[in-house]
Amino acid sequence: MKMKYSFRILPAFVAVGMLAGCSKNPVTGKKEIVFMSQEKEIALGAESHPSIVATMGIYDDKNLQSFINEKGMAMAKISHRPDLPYKFFIVDSPVVNAFAVPGGYVYFTRGIMAHFNNEAEFAGVLGHEIGHITARHSARQQTSQIFGQVGLAAGMILSPQVRAMGEQAQQALGLLFLSYSRDHETESDKIGVDYSSKIGYDAKEMADFFGTLKRISEKAGQSIPTFQSTHPDPGDRMQKVGKLATEYQIAHPGKYNVNRDAYLRKIDGVIYGNDPQQGFVENNNFYHPSLKFQFPVPSGWQYENSPAQFQMAAKDGKSMMLFTLAQGKTLDEAAQAVVKNYGLKVIENEKATINGNPAVVMVSQQAEQGQNGQAVAATANTIQVGTWLIQYGGNIYAIHGVATAGNYAANAGQFRSVAQGFKSVSDQSILNRQPERIRIKTAQRDATLREVLKDNNQPDGKLDELAIINGMALTDRVAKGSLFKTLGK
Ligand SMILES: [Zn+2]
Repeated sequence: MKMKYSFRILPAFVAVGMLAGCSKNPVTGKKEIVFMSQEKEIALGAESHPSIVATMGIYDDKNLQSFINEKGMAMAKISHRPDLPYKFFIVDSPVVNAFAVPGGYVYFTRGIMAHFNNEAEFAGVLGHEIGHITARHSARQQTSQIFGQVGLAAGMILSPQVRAMGEQAQQALGLLFLSYSRDHETESDKIGVDYSSKIGYDAKEMADFFGTLKRISEKAGQSIPTFQSTHPDPGDRMQKVGKLATEYQIAHPGKYNVNRDAYLRKIDGVIYGNDPQQGFVENNNFYHPSLKFQFPVPSGWQYENSPAQFQMAAKDGKSMMLFTLAQGKTLDEAAQAVVKNYGLKVIENEKATINGNPAVVMVSQQAEQGQNGQAVAATANTIQVGTWLIQYGGNIYAIHGVATAGNYAANAGQFRSVAQGFKSVSDQSILNRQPERIRIKTAQRDATLREVLKDNNQPDGKLDELAIINGMALTDRVAKGSLFKTLGK
């Protein structure tokens, strides 16, 4: 959870879809039905960008940013649509992913930047994403498919109504889960080969990166890029892209660069994995060091920390809690916003103090409407919400406990003890918790990857992960004087 901004939804996506017309595809040259004009595409990118920034944050690294700008603009120039207002960003997410929004917006996560092992791999993925834009893949899709399935973690879905509460925050993140058809993916892979080759990179490296993606998706417990499920099998793509790259180079003989050392030096110091400064769970507490608060996590509950919110749920799925920034400058404004946004009917409302912080406590029910739009009397299945709004450190936070009216009483004590456990953090060992970073080292001898990692005090439990990050096997040879990745504070 970054909590720099409150979340917003994406109005742009809702409006798309009605403007279908026939136009010539810039890449294939074929006439086809598209659902968006170029102006609409550009507007869509511009409108969704603030939501992406709000939910994920921009990863602040000037060197890396100027590198992706330079390569992005070079590729835009040789692309099928050089005139779009392209923009390139690194978002602050540990997930390995890249995505593009119509109109020229291209995003890489810091997670994928940490996993590339040379400039050519990056260029291949850049080409693939620019390909989705130039071939108008989003514009060719129905609106309903754009969001795809953005479900909450298993066990957190009580009912469509409760789900709607979570989805509001998840909607902006839905862009991360943009899914294209397999045909579009295959087309973009081919475009990626062409574009990256045209700006001088060896597209065979792009094929190798699919090998890395395959290993990441096979490794359990890792944040798996969601696009894996809809993308063609990385193994197949590796073969196809390898073949296309070879064909391209035979047809266009020349020098194709890999630039491994130059790339590795650029990512030295990049944050790897979750950043504890944005919140972590330890000993049944959620801690947020940069915002200096904590609250308890009931034991046995499942939880999920995302940039916009922290949510947790009982294993039986009968109750959940949602923690997020509230809207509004005062507690009253925040309370009104909650009632309005979630369509609630307030049953109880009182002022309180929680560990010295001014608060408002509300109990409300989701107002239900019958088929003719009239209010319907609450039943045992009506969603009941306990809300604690707490003013702390210049922000107002909302803690919601959600259950059906029939189950609410049984869970009210649990909700209350979480909310009343909200307090400041002063423990320096929590406040100063630092993320792991990619640290580039030079091999001091000819040895296996395993040996040079051990030479650099890398823990045994991390070796398999480090092999994937390095795009190598632990038994691969590393020559004396060559660079490789380690993890360190
Ligand atoms: Zn794709």
